[in-house]
Amino acid sequence: MNPSILDKTHRVGGLYVHVPFCAHKCEYCAFFSEVSNGERMEQYVEALVRELELIAHELSPRTVFFGGGTPSILNLRQWEKILAAFQRLGLAGATEWTVECNPATVSADKARLLRSGGVNRISMGVQSLDERLLDRLGRVHSREMVFKSFDTLRTAGFDNVNLDLMFAIPGQTMEVWRATLREATQLGSEHLSCYEVIYEEDTPLFQQLQAGEFDVDENLACDMYDELIEHATSAGFRQYEIANFARPGDAGEEADPARACRHNINYWRAGEYHGVGPSATGYIGGRRTRNWSNTQLYCEQLAKGRRAIESVDELSPLARAGEVAAFGLRMNRGWRFDEFRETTGFELAEEWRVDLAVLVDCGWGERSDESFRLTRAGLRFADAAAERFLRP
Ligand code: SF4
Repeated sequence: MNPSILDKTHRVGGLYVHVPFCAHKCEYCAFFSEVSNGERMEQYVEALVRELELIAHELSPRTVFFGGGTPSILNLRQWEKILAAFQRLGLAGATEWTVECNPATVSADKARLLRSGGVNRISMGVQSLDERLLDRLGRVHSREMVFKSFDTLRTAGFDNVNLDLMFAIPGQTMEVWRATLREATQLGSEHLSCYEVIYEEDTPLFQQLQAGEFDVDENLACDMYDELIEHATSAGFRQYEIANFARPGDAGEEADPARACRHNINYWRAGEYHGVGPSATGYIGGRRTRNWSNTQLYCEQLAKGRRAIESVDELSPLARAGEVAAFGLRMNRGWRFDEFRETTGFELAEEWRVDLAVLVDCGWGERSDESFRLTRAGLRFADAAAERFLRP
């Protein structure tokens, strides 16, 4: 199958690379990843380079994001191969190039190598700074490793670092959440991403919930979200998406914060991107592609010289516009009606007139003559709000 529908001059500006290995599977994790295995990782790197070779002519990356899994689990030699492939294929030099790191797998050598290879942003999976909760989540790192890794990254020259945190973890009290927020913001990172725990089927945490081992306290989760917004704002961050906060820099109130993640903004504004690696999705020319969520199959397909694409979906224009509306409303700035029209060809204020009115009535939405956005309460329940925009 050849999903390429690009003409020769068209270049895609976003690239996502999925690295499907972790040292250990966390209790809550539903991402596609497997416990690391030396031989499989070697095969993966070969396959990844092959996949990049197949699509390099369609790419001119402004943003690159290595996610996972745990990209930092790849060893120095494997990273050298990947970085060399980026250079050889003309894919290096992105304005924003992020690599996700686990604090347990950040060494000074690796940090220096990544920085010198063009990586200029690190997203570190901290989740909590409470030792007991880190154990509860099945994380392989300790709180001390977070502080040490942060220093290592700064010493290697990374001046754009995100910290990922989680709240509403079973057993987490408001005091513990406050302490984590305080210590995390004191580190002085440029960006914070804070997610509420979600209970995905097929995870140990979900099974424990089903077995009645703990209860979910929705009110506490709401209070923790409020605390997050208050704390992050007073620490100098600006919220620009449900779960994302960044240092504003010189950006005016209307603009996204200077240290906002450009790669993710491209997703929320319906921009195009290629996705490589097992389970990765791409979105180009209105079509969504998805690679097989099977590392062995992925490697076998690439060894035969073809991409490991499981599916290509093309939504109707209206269904796609509904998705675009829902995604964009995750951002605090919502949608300007003219921007939405330019992006999708549809009128948000007409096609979804009733839905906008319902959301305004229940306090989840705010509408002006030019734009629509979710309120703080609406952002907290954005997934429920999003459902109103979906069309067959
Ligand atoms: S490190 Fe991330 S991707 Fe890996 S198992 Fe834990 S949550 Fe999942």
